[in-house]
Amino acid sequence: MKIVIDTHTHSIASGHAYSTIDEIARSAKKKRLKGFVITEHGPALQGFPHVYYFGNLRILPKTLYNVRVFSGVELNIMDMHGGVDLSSKYLRNLDFVMAGFHEACFPPQNVKENTSAMIAAIANPLVDGISHPGNPVYPVDIEEVVKAAVHYGKALEINNSSFVVRRGSEENCRNVARFAREYGAMLSCGSDAHYCDDVGNFARALGVITEIGVHHEQIVNSSFEQFMEFSEKRKMERLSVG
Ligand SMILES: [Zn+2]
Ligand SMILES: [Zn+2]
Repeated sequence: MKIVIDTHTHSIASGHAYSTIDEIARSAKKKRLKGFVITEHGPALQGFPHVYYFGNLRILPKTLYNVRVFSGVELNIMDMHGGVDLSSKYLRNLDFVMAGFHEACFPPQNVKENTSAMIAAIANPLVDGISHPGNPVYPVDIEEVVKAAVHYGKALEINNSSFVVRRGSEENCRNVARFAREYGAMLSCGSDAHYCDDVGNFARALGVITEIGVHHEQIVNSSFEQFMEFSEKRKMERLSVG
């Protein structure tokens, strides 16, 4: 199986990442990717981009160095009710909208509350997928989360950086993949690169996906067409929110 689009990258605009979009594109080209999604953090974390940044993503060229540039975001899950830190005005035209737990915006709770908050974010029609759901700092009932992802047609991420920066993620990611295979949930595979050389690094995440035997049709970014289809479908739902 191949991953052809990196669905999770951060540029210098994220405040704690170190490469420009141009450098990310050149690295994606070198890694022979067909595209990448720019997913800066949402504005609720200090030092991260102002809302205008997301509204203006549309001025970026559609391709750089023959690699497709997709617009996205990694929102912050803000509360127990599916609240995120950008309104539909800024999200409606993006290609891929992830939401995830980050400590400054949603301090870790117990399993029951983390699970409810994650499922509420999955149910939010503005959200397309959940970033690093295997983060052990936020233990969740993975089977319930996977069932919700199937119900709402959302993607759960197997995040390659988690194996390095979120220690203890491996077993959780394996369980995400295992339940995803069992229930037929969609997964995304992202590098979560904060430096251009890491763009397209999926080895460990892909290792888990292949070890568990998740079908390639369940991985939204395992083909360009599959990602386009998922993105278009999600965009339609986001636009219908008004
Ligand atoms: Zn994150
Ligand atoms: Zn990230």
